[in-house]
Amino acid sequence: MNKYSNILKMINLADVCWQTLLDNNLSNVIVNYKDGKYYTDSGHSFYNMVSVSYLGLETSEIIKEEECKTLKNPLNINIPTSKLRIKSKLFYNVEKELSEYFDAIALLGSSCSALSEGILPLIASGALTNNIKPLMIFDQFCHFSMNITKPGCGDETKVVTAKHNDMDFLEEACKNNDWVAYIADGAYSMGGHTPMEKLVELQKKYNLFLYIDDSHSLTAYGDKGYGYVRSFMKEINEKTIFTYSLYKSFGAAGGMSLVNKSNTRNIKLIERYAGPIAWSQPPTVSALGRIKGSLKVHRTEEINIRQQRLNENLELFDSLVETAQKGSKLPIRLVLIGNEESTLKVSKNLFDNGFYVSAVFFPIVQKGKAGLRVMMNSEIDKKDLKKLCSLINENLLKYK
Ligand SMILES: *Cc1c(COP(=O)(O)O)cnc(C)c1O
Repeated sequence: MNKYSNILKMINLADVCWQTLLDNNLSNVIVNYKDGKYYTDSGHSFYNMVSVSYLGLETSEIIKEEECKTLKNPLNINIPTSKLRIKSKLFYNVEKELSEYFDAIALLGSSCSALSEGILPLIASGALTNNIKPLMIFDQFCHFSMNITKPGCGDETKVVTAKHNDMDFLEEACKNNDWVAYIADGAYSMGGHTPMEKLVELQKKYNLFLYIDDSHSLTAYGDKGYGYVRSFMKEINEKTIFTYSLYKSFGAAGGMSLVNKSNTRNIKLIERYAGPIAWSQPPTVSALGRIKGSLKVHRTEEINIRQQRLNENLELFDSLVETAQKGSKLPIRLVLIGNEESTLKVSKNLFDNGFYVSAVFFPIVQKGKAGLRVMMNSEIDKKDLKKLCSLINENLLKYK
């Protein structure tokens, strides 16, 4: 029992903070959206600095138009059957369009979590590594949606958790096992990234399978919005799967896995046996319309322009506020405060002054390392961003 997770322990440790957030009206905030800001019924307005849509595409008119057009087309319905048997032409075409744009085989799921839930146990079984069960290594900071599959994976093969970005540990494991599968985030939601250069190097030497969730950098980073990890692997090799949420910077809905173009065996196995991918429905007609719309935007200069604005905003922030992530082109910054109580007070003060910035505390970060997670956005006005930076610095003087 509790070999891979301990939910009650997590609740006991984290619930005080969540309750405090609720008591301070910093959770369950109900809003409407208008012109770049959020509005509550009581008239309070604020910038959303916890948005994972770093280029603001969730409000793109082009995406919305394509969504409406797709929905109104009577040929498109949500087919109430496993897509393994019957697939809508719309779904088929959207997967094809994604595959062409991302130069790989794109497999769509209803969410990134659903893809991981299906694919990770399949990797654990050995089905994707010539029927040899790999030692499965999860980075300790892997996203919740992957960690939650550990018990299922652990029933198929040996599962271990490695220290964050511990490449020596990984290489030792590669030396001592026929196959190793390494599970990690590309860009981590708490800042930083996986050492992709090293991973590619290890893959050349050993039987190392990579499953990397790069939800936080798709669209927001890199040429054509290919994201962080992809910039190290132009052609996705046979031993790699990259997975993404399409709800984040991509500005649509659903999840996408990218697989090597010629590995038809693995593609078939995933389509047939990766849990929710086979049995559940594809993204809805509305989601598929948004994906088409987002691809439309991706084919224009818009992504480049918004990425540039994001970089300018990051540079401005870095020139005013000290963080360990200073200088990175990935959009997350962690402002260390330390004490949880002070962190909550700072977060409340920022909210009252027009910025929702999330307070992060244990178990999201280590004990005593509580702080603010600032998620930069290309669309925030520079004047308002400066105001946010001053507010943060004033609060740090008061509470740190
Ligand atoms: C948000 C997030 C997810 C969840 O994505 P869904 O598409 O909503 O399931 C998965 N992985 C990471 C790294 C995330 O940040």
